[in-house]
Amino acid sequence: AAARDRYIKKTKTVCTYCGVGCSFEVWTKDRHILKVEPGPGPANGISTCVKGKFGWDYVNAGDRLITPLIREGDRFREASWDEALDLIAWRLNEIKAQHGPDALAMIASSKCTNEEAFLVQKIARQVIGTNNVDNCSRYCQSPATMGLFRTVGHGGDSGTIADLEASDLIIGIGTNTAESHPVIAARIKRAQKLRGTKIVVFDLREHELARRADTFLRPRPGTDFVWLTAFSKYILDHDLADWAFLRERVNGLEAYRESIAAYTMEYAAEETGIAQAALEKLAREVAASPGVSICWAMGVTQQCGGSETSTAIANLLLVTGNFGKPGCGAYPLRGHNNVQGASDMGAMPDRVTGYQKVDDPVAVERYRREWGVTLRPERGLDNTQMVDAALKGQLKALWLTGEEMSLTDSDSNHVEASYERLEFFVVQDLYFTNTARFADVVLPGSPSLEKEGTFTNTERRIQRLYQAMPPLRGTKPDWEIYQAVAQRMGAQWNYAHPSEIMDEIARLTPIFAGVNYERLGGFGSLVWPVDADGTDMPLLYRERFNFPDGKARLYPAVYQPRVQAPNHEFDLHLNSGRMLEHFHEGNMTFRVPGVAAQSPDAFVELSPELAAERRVQSGQYVRVISASGAIRLRAVVTGRVSGNELYIPMNSRSAEDAVNRLTGQNKDTVTNTPAYKDTRVRLEVLPET
Ligand code: SF4
Repeated sequence: AAARDRYIKKTKTVCTYCGVGCSFEVWTKDRHILKVEPGPGPANGISTCVKGKFGWDYVNAGDRLITPLIREGDRFREASWDEALDLIAWRLNEIKAQHGPDALAMIASSKCTNEEAFLVQKIARQVIGTNNVDNCSRYCQSPATMGLFRTVGHGGDSGTIADLEASDLIIGIGTNTAESHPVIAARIKRAQKLRGTKIVVFDLREHELARRADTFLRPRPGTDFVWLTAFSKYILDHDLADWAFLRERVNGLEAYRESIAAYTMEYAAEETGIAQAALEKLAREVAASPGVSICWAMGVTQQCGGSETSTAIANLLLVTGNFGKPGCGAYPLRGHNNVQGASDMGAMPDRVTGYQKVDDPVAVERYRREWGVTLRPERGLDNTQMVDAALKGQLKALWLTGEEMSLTDSDSNHVEASYERLEFFVVQDLYFTNTARFADVVLPGSPSLEKEGTFTNTERRIQRLYQAMPPLRGTKPDWEIYQAVAQRMGAQWNYAHPSEIMDEIARLTPIFAGVNYERLGGFGSLVWPVDADGTDMPLLYRERFNFPDGKARLYPAVYQPRVQAPNHEFDLHLNSGRMLEHFHEGNMTFRVPGVAAQSPDAFVELSPELAAERRVQSGQYVRVISASGAIRLRAVVTGRVSGNELYIPMNSRSAEDAVNRLTGQNKDTVTNTPAYKDTRVRLEVLPET
């Protein structure tokens, strides 16, 4: 054993998949991954799921990009790093000179490190001079962040995953937690078993957590706002609110009560399709529970009213005094490993690091002193606006890292058409993706095992990852790529190690003031906000909400009913989401043979009643058609879905049959997050072949 151990390297890392942020020791010999040993991680203890334990072979996939590629006509040719980096710097400077800085845009990757997301927005703001920068939280959690900004002030979970376990009642809304955030689901189930925590699930689909829930309710699509707001009204009207909390810690009660006057339980029952008695019983339970936590995800946020419903969640928690103590609060569950971090790092069109607004004079002065430039005060383009601007010929150049945007943004055909209009498109990724087909330059980046940096998980926990193996020959860590281009564009960057980037982040960002690599050593972690002396704050709002007067705000949100209710042409509602074995479109997990074999391809779920009506058998091919496109899949007949609902996982081996060929261009009215869940379709049964 001793001889064996001499050749085995054990490296602490953080999971590269979902936002739980499980940490591990990965055992390697050269580039071979021998074993992944969970914990002792602050987020996961010694737990893991199948992806964290067995999902790492994508790192050694045979089709990793190992050299930059440059387009020549319809083909790509291999190029040296110098040639590719020179070309990018020259073209970006040239387009900026011809069309101005706002003709360029950058998209940071939520799979990359905090330090890399920071450099992406630094290139945009310091080197190019534009606020056209975003990250993939635009596709998932921006509405949740907006709901929290409006009401409690910080754009993150209000407590830790351990705090969640101390809840008396956990409500999951539009979250398939057992498949999307498995280790959090394991903790919820443990709380149910060991301390009698009640679980309530509101969802369209009877997924695993719904089956285990004490109460499972299926509201009509897009109507969560109504029952949430009716609960608040019922609790206030029946004198069940936490009046002391409201009096001492919350502003805006009067205006809020006026704004919700129409949200009676009768109306909620009519709109959601759930019996009034069941809603009233649950509202009383919410009011009576000492600690209520609400977890939500894309079933809430990917709707036209995603921000409004997220606001309604926070309003209900305020009315019932469920902030500032363990076992209660708001838990928007982040999808990517570092989607929280990419937003924290200012890869957003209106905010720099730590959610400081680009027109905040204090932040502007802080950045001017550090970077020598004055931040532009106007909001830049977000991801979805970039697509529209490219189609109109206003956006000329885009640099996209680590995102299969053509298949994860809504309405893939529309997105691909926008790429065709770009004058210059850089894609940086591990593989030659579907999106890369449209690029002018493709750069090979590095996965997390090949570099150093930090990730921030869903509970705001910042953790270090260490380099388990050197970058694959021919590739570079993404932060080195950004630095090399910035230098070629004339910037004086000279980072020798990602820790120096974190030191700069700390100088620029009050909520990261005390973050440094020393304090994050080994399995150590810090949960932001972190004071200069290193004191962190796992539980937010104990004494103050994040507003100047320290008080929360009940925010009069506005119901946005769905716009794609089924009609005679498209008579079914389409829902989509994750599967346990796959991550997003599947570019990484389909390259892990053992994991991919568990779920080799996408399918469409039909309810037994719909299958009987349309004469569809499990295994039969069907075509699903929307106003945006059509895809062909195998049918799975299952009681997980009901009535005229279809469900399609978001992963697909075939770019042509990806679910986002069907989704359209409706968006959350506040954040522009695509309303993926507001899609109507029809079904054609295909003859057996
Ligand atoms: Fe943990 Fe999520 Fe990774 Fe699974 S995918 S090991 S739950 S971080």
